[in-house]
Amino acid sequence: MKPSPLWARPLLQRLTLIWSLRDRRLSLWVALVGLVAAVLITLVWLAGRYETSQVQATLERDTTDAVNDIRSGLMRDVQALQALQASHNSVGAWSTETGRLLREHRDWLRVEWRDAHMQLRAHVDSPLRAPSFARTPRSNVLNEVTPACQRARRSSAPAYSSSYFVPQADGIGFEVMDLCLPWVIAGETLGYTITTFSLQEIMAVHLSPDFARRNEVSFIEPDGTRLAIIGQHGRGVRLFSAQQLLDLPGLTLVLRVDGRRGAPDLFPNVLTALVTAMSIALVSVLVLLVKDSRRRLKAERDLAEALAFRKAMEDSLVTGLRARDLQGRITYVNPAFCQMVGFEPAELLGYNAPMPYWPPEMAGEYQQRQAIRLAGNAPPREGYESVFMHKDGTRIAVLIIEAPLINVLGQQTGWMSAFLDISEQRRVEEMSRASQERLQATARLATVGEMASLLSHELNQPLAAIASYANGSLNLLQDPEAEDATQTLADLQLALRRIAEQAGRAGKIINSVHDFVRRRDQDREAVIPQALIEAIMPLVQLQARKLRVRVVIKLEDKLPTVWCDRTMVEQVLLNLARNGMQAMDAPDCTDRLLLIQVRRAASNQEHQWVELSVTDQGSGISTEVAAQLFTPFFTTKAEGMGLGLSLCRTVIEQHGGHLEFEAHPPRGTLFRFTLPVPQRP
Ligand code: ADP
Repeated sequence: MKPSPLWARPLLQRLTLIWSLRDRRLSLWVALVGLVAAVLITLVWLAGRYETSQVQATLERDTTDAVNDIRSGLMRDVQALQALQASHNSVGAWSTETGRLLREHRDWLRVEWRDAHMQLRAHVDSPLRAPSFARTPRSNVLNEVTPACQRARRSSAPAYSSSYFVPQADGIGFEVMDLCLPWVIAGETLGYTITTFSLQEIMAVHLSPDFARRNEVSFIEPDGTRLAIIGQHGRGVRLFSAQQLLDLPGLTLVLRVDGRRGAPDLFPNVLTALVTAMSIALVSVLVLLVKDSRRRLKAERDLAEALAFRKAMEDSLVTGLRARDLQGRITYVNPAFCQMVGFEPAELLGYNAPMPYWPPEMAGEYQQRQAIRLAGNAPPREGYESVFMHKDGTRIAVLIIEAPLINVLGQQTGWMSAFLDISEQRRVEEMSRASQERLQATARLATVGEMASLLSHELNQPLAAIASYANGSLNLLQDPEAEDATQTLADLQLALRRIAEQAGRAGKIINSVHDFVRRRDQDREAVIPQALIEAIMPLVQLQARKLRVRVVIKLEDKLPTVWCDRTMVEQVLLNLARNGMQAMDAPDCTDRLLLIQVRRAASNQEHQWVELSVTDQGSGISTEVAAQLFTPFFTTKAEGMGLGLSLCRTVIEQHGGHLEFEAHPPRGTLFRFTLPVPQRP
């Protein structure tokens, strides 16, 4: 099925289309807003997460550093103890040096010197605190140390014991560990230096106070048991936690650092602030966009309504509309125009001259006309009449009004034309003209008939009287029994007088009719020849359009006025023009041109004359027809009366002029007549 053109789509369908577009746009907006919100939330969340991961990474780093610090601190301790072992052989010197070292190392609780059999040779407790093994005897916890020393002995290297709890006198206690340093000389183990470390103090000594302030640091066992702790984390803040193994020979501890830092704020740093600022900007832009889109939507709706209204208006118009570009190509036609010429829009759009709706015989003339119009030489908005051809071949009379098509920039982009189908109007005019003509003809006939009956009636009496007097006279002359010749003569004289009287009366009647005809003399006036032609042009044009005849008028310059009965002469001109046009109404007559000319005629001293002529390209006049041309009631037409030319001649002759005709080679006939120019007084 062929899709219907846009203008033929029902309004409802178009509105539905607009609404569905609106719905789609709305859902697009919802999707966009959702997406932007999702992106923003994700961005803020990611920024937060990034910040959190940064904090965690820092903590991990710090924890590793802390473990390294502790490890290197313990190494230094081992070195100090080795130096002590090597340089102080006597118990006294050893104790003095150990006392000094214990003052320097807050994390050392006690240093013992034991021999190879683990018998205590000397020991010094830290002077900085109460002796650690005051409540629990050292012998009770020796089993913690012994395995470490055995390991140290085997490896000839320092070894740590596992950590253990040492209760104190005040009821609390602390976690400690022992370092067993073997004293080996020439492969023989001479004894051990055993140092007890407070786990808590190890952290306090080897970690920076700032680190301990910021974090809660603790030693835990691999199973999670907390052994010692320094620092305290604040309440209500998020805890970041990191763990790191402290691998010592014979002992593995886990350093756990719980960060006191809270979770990053909503705007923890520049990045998040930037992202948030950008998000706010984006949302603002989005809001502005939504506003703009709403305005746009409204404008679109208004536009769609205006368009629908315009379409409805164009579609319901009975006036045909057609737009052409500057080259003359059709760019738009409305339904009324399509209906007028019977073509579909697709058959017309893009077409240039010759248009499919031009009658072939007029194509040349129309093409010239179009060229003149496109060149901009025609007055805009002035209507002119033309004839178009419907697709089925019928001719349509149209009134065309053309105007330049101006775009919003004020530039002309083409031509807009409006078409009114005036065929019906022309038909009515033609009918009224024909009926008027018939009426005139009938009236003329009636006048002639009336005159004839008047004449016959008026003449009847005198003629009857003459006949009866003549008969009476004859009877008198033929009466053989007449006695009184004198009486007969007197009777005859009387009869002849009566006859003369009646003949005189009949003559008077005829004269009175003549007078009646001549009465129009009074209506004569000086008329410009052009006025005569202009008066008949509307009627001539009507018939010319019907018979597709071109009428050309040629007037000589500076024509004088003519002295005539205007109405009668107009009638003559009309008759001649009509005869000419009818003579051209034949299929073989292609160049239908009627030429009406007025010029000065040859004049004598008494009178000046003006000659009017009507030339056609018709069938011409045969000799037989020519012989009877001016005979009243001679006609070759079915509807003709044959009075036209005879009356014309009478009228012209009454004006003192001549009516004559001649052949007009190669085709047609020329009728001409003369009219007098009024004499100057
Ligand atoms: P009518 O027009 O009624 O027939 P007219 O007296 O005007 O009467 O014309 C008489 C006849 O003369 C016409 O029927 C026609 O045959 C012929 N005639 C008149 N004018 C022309 C003409 N221009 N060309 C050919 N024939 C003509």
